[in-house]
Order: sequence, then C-alpha cells, then structure tokens
Amino acid sequence: MLIVMEKNATPDQIKAVEAAVTARGYEARPIPGGERMSIGVLRNKGAVDASLFLGLGGVKDVIPVTRPYKLVSRETRSEDTVVRVGDVAIGNGHMTIIAGPCAIESEAQALTIARHVKDAGAHMFRGGAFKPRTSPYSFQGLGLEGLEILAKVRHETGLPVVTEVMDMATFDQVESYADMIQIGTRNMQNFSLLRRAGRSTRPVLLKRGMAATIDEWLMAAEYIMEGGNTQVILCERGVRTFVHHSRNTLDLSAVPYVRRESHLPIIIDPSHAAGRRDQVIPLSRSSIAVGAHGLMVEVHHQPDQALSDGAQSLYPQQFVQLCRQSQAIFNLLDEGPTAHP
Ligand code: PEP
Ligand code: MN
Repeated sequence: MLIVMEKNATPDQIKAVEAAVTARGYEARPIPGGERMSIGVLRNKGAVDASLFLGLGGVKDVIPVTRPYKLVSRETRSEDTVVRVGDVAIGNGHMTIIAGPCAIESEAQALTIARHVKDAGAHMFRGGAFKPRTSPYSFQGLGLEGLEILAKVRHETGLPVVTEVMDMATFDQVESYADMIQIGTRNMQNFSLLRRAGRSTRPVLLKRGMAATIDEWLMAAEYIMEGGNTQVILCERGVRTFVHHSRNTLDLSAVPYVRRESHLPIIIDPSHAAGRRDQVIPLSRSSIAVGAHGLMVEVHHQPDQALSDGAQSLYPQQFVQLCRQSQAIFNLLDEGPTAHP
C-alpha cells in the first residue's frame, strides 16, 4: 500500500503518518517524488485497512499496490527513475552507452579500448575483473589487479566504470573500486548478494537471469531496493532458448513490459544475447527503437586474441557505427524527459 501525501504536507505530518504505520507493526518507507512525498507500507501480511491512514493530516490518498514487487513497481512511483553514475545519467530521456572488453586483461588492453570507446561516444566503461566462467580452466579475470586497472582507466579517461561482483567475499573490494556494481545473470537470484547490494551506496546494474521470468527479475530488484538502495538499473541480456543461431535469445518485448511495470531504467546487452559479432549492431538498433534506455556492449581492439568473449566483441570501428546508428534512432524517437508508456 502507498500513502500519498499532499504537496504541502509538513514534515510533522509525514512523521505522524510514519508513526501510525509503524504502530500497526508495518514498515514505513518514505518515497520522495517530483512534487510530493509518498510513504510505502511494507511487511504487511494481507490487505491493509486504508481508512487507518486516510483521515490523517496531510494525506491525499491511499493506494493499494497490487504487484508482488512494491518499491520497484510503477504503482509506487509513477515517474521514471534516473540513476546517476558520476556525471552520467541513465533513464528517462537519456540514452547511455556502456562499452569495453568482456574482461580486463592488462593495463594496455584496457586503456587502448577505453580510449577507443570514449572517442566513439561511450558514456561509461565496462570490464570484468572477477569473471564467472563456465569452465574452471578458462581465464578467471585479474581480480584485484583488474580493479586497479579499472581505477586507472577512470583516472585517464574520466569514464565511470562498471564491473561485476561475483560473491560476498569480494564485495567490499569491488565496491571500493567500481562506480557501478554489476550483478551477473548467474547471480540474479543470489539473495545474500542482492541484500548486500541493497546496503551499498553504489548504483547496481542487475542483469536478468538467463532463465528468469520478468517477475523473478523484478523481485530480485526488489531485494536491492528493500535494503535501501534505490539506484538500480535492469539489464536484459538474452534468455536461454532452443535456438542455435545466437548464444541466447534477446527478449525485446521485455523492454516495453518492464517500462510499464517499473519506474527503473532498463538497458540491453546485445553482446551476450547474440554471442556473435555480426548480430550486435542490428540488435543494438532494435534495442534503442524498442525503448531501452541504453546499451552495454563488448568491444575489443584485438578480438581474436581476447581472453574471453572475443567472438562477440566488436572492433572499435564497428562500435563507432553502433554509436552513430543508435543515436540516430534515439533522436528519431524524440523522447523528452517524463515520457513513459
Ligand atoms: C558480463 O557482462 O561480463 C557477463 C558475464 O554477462 P552475463 O552475466 O550477462 O553473462
Ligand atoms: Mn562477456
């Protein structure tokens, strides 16, 4: 349930409503909006009697939240959330491109790619330091050394960096280096990791599990928001199907569905969806056309020598083309701030 306050509600009135909620054994969660404050009622088992709160001073309305995800739901917050990572805005009216190699392999590799993607128009840099690999014999990432290289990339290029956190043991370390923390497809329902991310001050990029329904994905985001971290970005990266013409199947209809259901930004990773370079640009174009707030793309200056995901990594010149075309499509959509379906 959501208690919507009048625009001119006083801090004392807001406090009184919170006290009334907690007195009933529920949790009161203030949700600031553009014009007015709302108070989410959490931890209720079953329906809450609206009349308990309707008569309180400064209360405009009491709205039931029908979805299983509360804080993530557009019922709780009608305006699109814009997540800020340094100077970069993600969501509502912005198109944000994140690019870089699958894995950080060396300082020279990371800096070379970072300079390319920055010149082409990328807003953020990506690169894994701790890599979740299918085979224990594959390159597992540089770990702490990779994080230090990411810090160097940020320093040299000014690009904020996003990198994956794989487990609780390395969370603090990753958090202290990354501007945004990525939770990968394999960890989407790692609930202790989600709870830890909920206590983080860093924005979180939450990838969709490779076999997760959208409800499960949004409930995973709810874990993070429930912990107090409101800065969550959803990332669709393809789901496992029966096909062999691509590594995964990019679920484009997830974008309009999620944008209707949730106020959180949603971006697309066409690289892990496709698994092959020739599909990455067409899937990027369609991602922007369908309403994604941005892209996360793998780029490598020598993909044939990449230590992971070389086959899906774009050459720098292809990334230039991707940025140009994506921007042109975004401009055509003419989406001003506040527009949402
Ligand atoms: C990645 O982005 O580096 C990655 C491992 O992606 P995913 O979790 O989507 O497989
Ligand atoms: Mn990869």
